[in-house]
Amino acid sequence: MAIIKSKKRLPGIHPAYHKHTMDMETAMLPVPATVSIPMLQHIGVEAVPVVKPGERVLVGQKIGDSDAPMCVPVHASVSGTVKQIGNMLTSGGKNVKTVVIEADGQQELFSAPAPVRADSREAFLQAVRESGLVGLGGAGFPTHVKLAHKDTAKVDTLIVNGAECEPYITSDYRECIEHPSDIADGIKLVMHHLGLTRCIIGIEKNKPDAIALLSKQTDQMGGVSVMPLKSLYPQGAEKVLIYCATGKILEEGQLPADCGTVVLNVSTVAELARYFRTGMPLVSRRLTIDGDAAGRPGNVMVPVGTPVRTVLEFCNTDLERCRELLMGGPMMGIAVADPDTPVVKNNNAILAFSRPQVSYSKTTACIRCGKCVRVCPVGLMPAGLERAYDNRNLPMLRKMKVNLCINCGCCSYVCPAKRDLAAKNQLAKQIIREKH
Ligand code: SF4
Ligand code: SF4
Repeated sequence: MAIIKSKKRLPGIHPAYHKHTMDMETAMLPVPATVSIPMLQHIGVEAVPVVKPGERVLVGQKIGDSDAPMCVPVHASVSGTVKQIGNMLTSGGKNVKTVVIEADGQQELFSAPAPVRADSREAFLQAVRESGLVGLGGAGFPTHVKLAHKDTAKVDTLIVNGAECEPYITSDYRECIEHPSDIADGIKLVMHHLGLTRCIIGIEKNKPDAIALLSKQTDQMGGVSVMPLKSLYPQGAEKVLIYCATGKILEEGQLPADCGTVVLNVSTVAELARYFRTGMPLVSRRLTIDGDAAGRPGNVMVPVGTPVRTVLEFCNTDLERCRELLMGGPMMGIAVADPDTPVVKNNNAILAFSRPQVSYSKTTACIRCGKCVRVCPVGLMPAGLERAYDNRNLPMLRKMKVNLCINCGCCSYVCPAKRDLAAKNQLAKQIIREKH
């Protein structure tokens, strides 16, 4: 099945952007009293703690790892003492081993800043793994796995995703504005070590200053170009971006490498450059704080493992007013019930709303208007999928390719009957996975 059916018409929606925090420079969160660092913060395998309760740890020290290929090392984001190791529910909905560190406020580093050297592709990939980097656009795929494509002769293009099409979130935008040279350095590293000849930086047209800055920054870099993209959701979805940047359609079961591409988020690329410059692994995240219940919206740099509550309090937010907390944007974010849920590597926003963003009470019968079909970026039939899910018709769900759903939420957004189509697709995929 073709992922995007026609070059002429790009499906998607135009939600209200609400990018209130675009001009707000990143603030630093003061060192929190404690951090709870989950051993699984990405798509893959949970790390095993390599520290013990009572042990003193320093910023950047590895506190979890394993030999599994899909495991990513986890590092301490504060200096202090390991208070306990237990299980905790993460924003990803998984109950995972978590290292709780009581911070001493010193932020003592595990090692002095020093550049990381890699003299071969293998050494580069190993270094990327040691950086603890995962996709920072939200998906959280291990970066070292993403870069380790086998068909090196076929892959020639790096696509850097700066679309950031989700409403409210401006974390990647601030990366472009505040650290364009890190993005350029990260691109150089990836292109050099993977032998890529071309790089396309995709940014929505509604961010002209980011386009201008990155164009200037990469002006003298051979093979690198900035591509202004239509402002459309979900422009930043990997498959949509590949199509827009190269015209190539990712067929079912294919990976970006099958289209000759590697796709990385702008913040991932910048973080990669910082790791190779300083040796400091990924221990903090820039979050956009917004929503009508957020007291002081803005962008904040936060140590990984910081409780959501601490970040919101820093932003003068009255938690009593928050009826719904989202980790991520309103389209693809995850609602969290517990404000003590820790921030993890692939979080890019905390949105606080005084009332739920999704209304479950006004659902009416499907009127077969077809709007959900017209906006689906991967060419699915959400109304039909919903019927198949309601009847628990697994063969039909498979036939209608529910596995291709990228959970963008466009179908639910446009449905005049307010049917929760995207959520049902998620549940359908889960059932199919469990039956496998
Ligand atoms: S949530 Fe899935 S079915 Fe709905 S529009 Fe997005 S990709 Fe299509
Ligand atoms: S958009 Fe809603 S009402 Fe229209 S066909 Fe799809 S499910 Fe039915």
